[in-house]
Amino acid sequence: MNGLGTQHLTALAGNPNCGKTTLFNEITGARQHVGNYPGITVEKKEGFCNLDGHQIRLVDLPGTYSLTAYSLEELVARDFLIYDRPAVVINIVDASNLERNLYLTIQLLELGIPLVLALNMIDAAAGRGVQIDSEELSRRLQVPVIPTVAKSGKGKEELLRVTLKHAEEQPLWSPLHISYGPDIDPVLDKMEAAITEASLLPELPARWTALKYLEADEQVMTKGREINPELSKNLEGLAEAVTDHLQKTLESYPEAIIADHRYGFIAGGLKETLSEKTQFADSTRLIDTLVTHKYLGFPLFFLFLWVMFEATFRLGGYPMAAIEWLVEQTGNLVRGSMAEGPLKDLIVDGIIGGVGGVIVFLPNIVILYLFIAFMEDSGYMSRAAFIMDKVMHRIGLHGKSFIPLIMGFGCNVPAIMATRTIESRSSRMITMFIVPFMSCSARLPVYILFVSAFFPSSGSLILLGLYAFGILIAALTARLFRDTLFREDETPFVMELPPYRMPTLKSVTTHMWDRSRQYLQKMGGPILIGSIIIWFLGYFPHNQEREAGFDVQIAQVEMQHAGNTTSDTDMEEAIAEIEHQRNREHQVNSYIGRIGHFMEPVMRPLGFDWKISVSLLSGMAAKEIVISTMGVLYTGDSDDQQSLKERLQSESYADGSPVFSPLVIAGFLLFVLIYFPCIATIIAIKEESHSWRWALFSVFYSTGLAWLVAFLVFQIGSLLM
Ligand code: GDP
Ligand code: MG
Repeated sequence: MNGLGTQHLTALAGNPNCGKTTLFNEITGARQHVGNYPGITVEKKEGFCNLDGHQIRLVDLPGTYSLTAYSLEELVARDFLIYDRPAVVINIVDASNLERNLYLTIQLLELGIPLVLALNMIDAAAGRGVQIDSEELSRRLQVPVIPTVAKSGKGKEELLRVTLKHAEEQPLWSPLHISYGPDIDPVLDKMEAAITEASLLPELPARWTALKYLEADEQVMTKGREINPELSKNLEGLAEAVTDHLQKTLESYPEAIIADHRYGFIAGGLKETLSEKTQFADSTRLIDTLVTHKYLGFPLFFLFLWVMFEATFRLGGYPMAAIEWLVEQTGNLVRGSMAEGPLKDLIVDGIIGGVGGVIVFLPNIVILYLFIAFMEDSGYMSRAAFIMDKVMHRIGLHGKSFIPLIMGFGCNVPAIMATRTIESRSSRMITMFIVPFMSCSARLPVYILFVSAFFPSSGSLILLGLYAFGILIAALTARLFRDTLFREDETPFVMELPPYRMPTLKSVTTHMWDRSRQYLQKMGGPILIGSIIIWFLGYFPHNQEREAGFDVQIAQVEMQHAGNTTSDTDMEEAIAEIEHQRNREHQVNSYIGRIGHFMEPVMRPLGFDWKISVSLLSGMAAKEIVISTMGVLYTGDSDDQQSLKERLQSESYADGSPVFSPLVIAGFLLFVLIYFPCIATIIAIKEESHSWRWALFSVFYSTGLAWLVAFLVFQIGSLLM
């Protein structure tokens, strides 16, 4: 500008007794004056200092612990920040009491105002054996951190220089986005969107305003009501609903949960920043030391996972058998009581066969979610993510992405919804794309069917190998996408470490049911529709002439029998042979048969016959449908009733070679593992990424990869064998 340079308005914020006044005096020297904020009696101190031809105007804000509207001091501080909009805020924190002091820092970061952190009283902290890695802290919070000793003026120069530099850059407000857990986050997102759309209180970050509604902040709500009464009423309604829900499930209220997560964020940020002996010292500490221990953490975590999977698959097996029986009985009941015709076939084979196949997995899902709800509500999930953080960094992600990945072993749909807790969009997107490689419980029945039919002795090893291969593909994909599609620089990331609490039975069961219901809703729709479509394609077109031809053949056989020229068994065999032929002809000529033959050129290089191809195609609706489709298509060559397993084993080509050679099975199982799990997952990806483009990308990427892997297995394997 001119010789005098620019004047930058800055503010000094901090808790009471952190050394604010001392630092203020040190910086401004004699050039200060004391007055009152306009209209109120809260002391307002202002001073100046010159640096490199620029002037810094420094306002000493009242000391506060928070930015709520509970006290006059807090209101003054926050109004100054919002309406006077200082270029930079120097947030002074007491290094010897960092965890508590950072609570205000987090709120300043959430407001988004440009910040410089003065890490004060490092002398006192060092005296108490506290070592703070200020660079690490700076990296994690994404703000400059300058160690100071206000009493002696140490660090003052650097602090001013960094402040000036920051002010010169005129950074935009960029609010920190903290996750407040599965109860609050979705509502917060919703409120934020509504606030942004109506541009209510545009001087404030929308998410911050939303948070204030959740905290029932009178000042913000009064303003909101004046400006947009209708929206304000909606927001208050949403806030009340969460409050009720939290009261019922956790016996808590939004402010407490919000505070918990802020402290969790701080604890996570300090974990690698503070030296060992100063970790927060409450009951959480011992458990934390154990479960995030360098060597014990992993085994404990895998032990927990093992228990979880055992319970899911083993315990879940009993109610599953019961539901299977129920579904079967329902099918028989309908079969016995309805008149023959397409409607009956649709209900029995299409709807009961298809949807019933999915409902049987409900117990497994419920048990899995019981464990996941326990992990989340107790705070253990955050620890698990914490110890995985380093491993996840290798593939360009953070520990937080680990949670959706684990959930993916249950069902990919809620796992993709769980990516909401990941703040960074690029990490979220990558996680969303790799979740489908986590082998969900719907793929397990396919593995089990084939492994038990063809390699019963090494079954569990193959299962383990398939899961591991999925994880490997996920890791490679994450690395690839991070290096190509989503290269943007990541904000260093703080893992939250919320305090442990013993989850109440009510909270765990409520969360479990919420999820299970979502599963049923999301899966029930697509599966119902998918099953009906598959059935329709397999059933039509009905060729009256051909059917009549077979009817005539059967009638002839029966007539011969009546004329006593054949024995009873001969007649039954002859009729079975005709029925078999009828099915085969019908199959080949149905729409599904035509689709299969159409697909054959693409799938032939993988060694798949048209029936495998069609099964994979129908498996797009849901992986269980792969099995039910095979059940329909592989009718078997024997006249005796055979299990699907036996039918698969005996399936052969015209030259007598088996359809399911080891190479084909390997390629097929890998294909099932790799190509996208179901349409519901793709819809979930579309919903969460707000883009059909990315959802379709996921379809093509996973299917292309599946084809390639199966192709390589079959072609290279054929060369070697
Ligand atoms: P305020 O309430 O934030 O304005 O804090 P004050 O500036 O009044 O300081 C509170 C106390 O901390 C005073 O006794 C200061 O002398 C002391 N103090 C301030 N800065 C430091 C520091 O860097 N190191 C140490 N050891 N003491 C400090
Ligand atoms: Mg003071």
